[in-house]
Amino acid sequence: MATTKDFYELLGVSRTASPEEIKKAYRKLAIQFHPDKNPGNKEAEEKFKEISHAYEVLSDKTKRAQYDQFGPEAFTSAGRANGPSGAGGGFHDPFDIFSQVFGSGFGGGGGGNSSIFEDLFGGGGGARRSSNGARDGSDLRYDLEIDFEDAVYGADKKIRIPKLSGCDHCNSSGCEPGSGRTTCTRCGGSGQVSMSQGFFSIRQACPSCQGAGQIVQNPCKVCRGAGRVQTEKTLQIHIPPGVDTGSRLRVAGEGESGVRGGSVGDLYVFIHVRAHDIFHREGNDIICDVPVSFAVATLGGIVEVPTVTGKAKMKIPEGTQNGTVLRLKGKGVPSLRGGARGDMHVRIFIEVPKNLSREQRIDLENFSSKLVDSKNHPIRDQFVGKAHRFMTGD
Ligand SMILES: [Zn+2]
Ligand SMILES: [Zn+2]
Repeated sequence: MATTKDFYELLGVSRTASPEEIKKAYRKLAIQFHPDKNPGNKEAEEKFKEISHAYEVLSDKTKRAQYDQFGPEAFTSAGRANGPSGAGGGFHDPFDIFSQVFGSGFGGGGGGNSSIFEDLFGGGGGARRSSNGARDGSDLRYDLEIDFEDAVYGADKKIRIPKLSGCDHCNSSGCEPGSGRTTCTRCGGSGQVSMSQGFFSIRQACPSCQGAGQIVQNPCKVCRGAGRVQTEKTLQIHIPPGVDTGSRLRVAGEGESGVRGGSVGDLYVFIHVRAHDIFHREGNDIICDVPVSFAVATLGGIVEVPTVTGKAKMKIPEGTQNGTVLRLKGKGVPSLRGGARGDMHVRIFIEVPKNLSREQRIDLENFSSKLVDSKNHPIRDQFVGKAHRFMTGD
């Protein structure tokens, strides 16, 4: 249903825009609204999907022609069934579209998240390498699963992360204490050598010294000259109240150590919130299905409902129907960005009694016989009237 918006408008381009203009517009918006840059922001996520769908259609010559002729309806799920032939197949995963446009060189991480993660924040597999052989440490990703309660109240969690840390034995130099380095004879210390390939001469990192320009005389016994060792570090992570699945916490300086003066990477903790038995979250609002007896729903009454801020008494008005949603203001999840706290939405579920005794059954039958359709069951009464008109054509 979101796809009925005009695709050209969504991308902010004219109807005569060239494929390059369309791609450029998509790139700009995709980075702006990518869920990784807007954790927990449902609107941004929706927008990201919309522009991906728009781009998918407008970047394809055939689909664009269909769109120009039939409009967005040709590509909605409803319209597709009987829409123009060839429009089927549905939309692709927005993250796949994103990866296609931005290239697939961001490492082969499983989810769509990892690709943008490495794109926007550097690091990942291909750490930067400078001419003096210094290499920055990679950023690290840690996926942390937490309980619903921790996401609401906040929590402190201990995590253990395996990572490459600076070697203490050689003070990260890679040289056994007391020894040094000599200038690489192959590249003369520049760290680069020229290779001719057809017409071209390409400069690349020297294979003898791996671009460092120097050769380690006596490599450190502990790190074997790497300057870093594999370690496991325990970190205390503070989770602020209000995080949700998709939230990402940055812990500066807790990524991998750099090499030869390269900077240390950061650690990104990706939050995943486990489902709760009775609470369901939508943004900062909490939804809870509360069973109510048909007598209370009919007569009205007070019921006690659990909320994340303690028990609350809630008034059920007389004649409450199944599925009615009652709001408890401010009993939702705190806002991560300091805005207003969410609400709790209590969805009434009227439980029809089961396993009646003989006596109960007789009582209910007696009661039921006294009900009057037009007065006690106005909805059913109306429905019967409409159904009759439909069947008889009056
Ligand atoms: Zn060492
Ligand atoms: Zn060299």
